[in-house]
Amino acid sequence: MKTVGIIGGGQLGRMLAIAAARLNLRTVILEPQADCPAAQTATRQIVGAYDDEVALDALAAACDIVTYEFENVPVAAATRLARSLPVYPPPKALEVAQDRVTEKRFLNACGLETARFHAVDSLAELSAGLADFGGRGVLKTRRLGYDGKGQHVFTGRDNKEETVYAALGAVPLILESFISFEREISIIAARSSDGTVVCFDPAENVHRQGILHTSTVPARIDPALGAKAGAAARAILEALDYVGVIGVEFFVTAEGGLSVNEIAPRVHNSGHWTEAACVVSQFEQHMRAVAGLPLGDASRHSDCIMHNLIGEEIDSVPEWLATPRTLVHLYGKADARPGRKMGHVTTLR
Ligand code: AMP
Repeated sequence: MKTVGIIGGGQLGRMLAIAAARLNLRTVILEPQADCPAAQTATRQIVGAYDDEVALDALAAACDIVTYEFENVPVAAATRLARSLPVYPPPKALEVAQDRVTEKRFLNACGLETARFHAVDSLAELSAGLADFGGRGVLKTRRLGYDGKGQHVFTGRDNKEETVYAALGAVPLILESFISFEREISIIAARSSDGTVVCFDPAENVHRQGILHTSTVPARIDPALGAKAGAAARAILEALDYVGVIGVEFFVTAEGGLSVNEIAPRVHNSGHWTEAACVVSQFEQHMRAVAGLPLGDASRHSDCIMHNLIGEEIDSVPEWLATPRTLVHLYGKADARPGRKMGHVTTLR
């Protein structure tokens, strides 16, 4: 029986551990917080920081393979582990995904379109970038941003560059051109170590306050555009010599083109619907890929909509439990803080 180490103890690790158990795989979670969501469903937890060398060596000693459930795993930690056992997805995927400038350069080198961008390390660079984009743009931290945190949208009216820069500017930034998108879609794809690539159907995503609110499948897009999204995911997976599941987020532009927003080298919130509407979920697909098992059938048997339960929305669980054709999935978090992902529900149509 193989043992898979998972760095990170959140809900994604929890769902990976559940999928692993069904395949007779043991899981060991590395996470500083004891009794984290993932530890509740895994075989074992090592309580330690992600960069604690003693904890990392204990993880390597306990496992056959290591994976991770978030993209901000320190690259040095992944590289240290990769000296003694396979780390999937490869640490290179972390390097690319951790810095929005490196990520966009990588995507452009793969022949994929992104928003235009300027690296911003001074107020003068911010002003020059905004002038280039006609005053409109999205300023983001290059690193450690998630769910719309560390971002500011310049609308072109009353821009207040100095105030915004003072609030964000102590860290490296990126200014992206503002994409007037028609909708947002994402694709979840997997690659095995023998190079086989399998894609789930694209999902259409709606965000509220920068946090994913719903994913609806099928997305309202032309099938040719869906195929283009799949081809983009394949190009990314191949360029990284990737093993595991990846999430790729796109803007569908007003002209009907595709612009890649970002990649997540892990299972992704916009793929949670797969556990209800496909025979093999993104979580099982990831565990199959990293454990060297054949990839599963990613075809969808039902149309569906996935709702995230954020903060107080956890109180609506009794109604969701009474809703027909609905799968409720909760994350074992005690404290329903605002903006915190507490669970999700998927209703088949
Ligand atoms: P991100 O953290 O990059 O995924 O951004 C969070 C959300 O902000 C995205 O899902 C979009 O709704 C919006 N957004 C991000 N970048 C841009 C952009 N360049 N143009 C327009 N909207 C954006």
